[in-house]
Amino acid sequence: MSARYAVIGNPVAHSKSPEIHAAFARQTGQDMSYEAMLAPLDGFAAAVKDFINHGGRGMNVTLPFKEQAFQLAAPNVSVRAGAAGAVNTLSFDEGAIAGDNTDGTGLIRDIQFNLLRATLTGLRILLLGAGGAARGVILPLLMFKPVLLTVANRTLSKAQALEQRFAQHGNIKASAYAALAGKQYDLVINATSASVAGALPPLPENIFAADALAYDLMYGQGLTPFLQFAQRQGAARLADGTGMLVEQAAESFYFWRGMRPDTAPVIARLKSKE
Ligand code: NDP
Repeated sequence: MSARYAVIGNPVAHSKSPEIHAAFARQTGQDMSYEAMLAPLDGFAAAVKDFINHGGRGMNVTLPFKEQAFQLAAPNVSVRAGAAGAVNTLSFDEGAIAGDNTDGTGLIRDIQFNLLRATLTGLRILLLGAGGAARGVILPLLMFKPVLLTVANRTLSKAQALEQRFAQHGNIKASAYAALAGKQYDLVINATSASVAGALPPLPENIFAADALAYDLMYGQGLTPFLQFAQRQGAARLADGTGMLVEQAAESFYFWRGMRPDTAPVIARLKSKE
């Protein structure tokens, strides 16, 4: 029987993960199936256990269950999942549940290998947002020793809490949006959910340095208000979160199968459909 995998969420029908993992399995010749599984909002753990009892080997976890997945796998979680306080990848081995979080590494791999083709070391980085996605990318970003990682959030106290939590790992500072005026950044990452509502975070003008990359975690929506703003402001490069989505999937695939698929053709195919 094929090894069984799934993405679990609510809602989940929109997920591109089945398409991505089917492409990885074809490419690497792995005998596996991958389905989308809708879990009731109050039935996450029961759905995972049922999947394990029916031969499930691993799962990706999407909204709103990443924190519950962390609780389910704890204490058997990776360092990066511990830093994020959330799990997006579960693996099942003879009843034992292990958890990892591949979102942050997926973002870094997309920026470093696919977009900049250079290291993040020495860059001035601005991260917008202080929710689950922002929390998951901070430690991987700090590991590359940027000159400064500024975290701006509408609710400043949440950015300040992240500054405190991660200060031991590098140069991280919380900021209100208005206090960004007069500063410039080489990389600006939108990890807010503003794009979902068609909104733009309240950014001042002239924050993009020459040659800056503007990156929106949101994907599949063309140029978001943030990317349109960055374009008007002269940012040299624009990217949405499609590459991150495929790279985090590849990292999960590696966690489960010990093989690294080629992400470039999968990213290109998804982008051609946007
Ligand atoms: P959360 O709900 O945890 O956090 C939302 C954040 O957005 C908060 O910091 C909130 O600020 C901020 N925010 C919301 N609306 C606005 C606005 N109008 N102006 C300024 N700030 C705003 O969401 P997540 O962190 O889980 O997700 C964020 C985004 O990342 C989503 O769009 C999601 O789709 C995307 N994502 C993409 C992935 C990929 O693979 N490409 C992976 C994971 C996430 P406040 O604290 O003040 O409320």
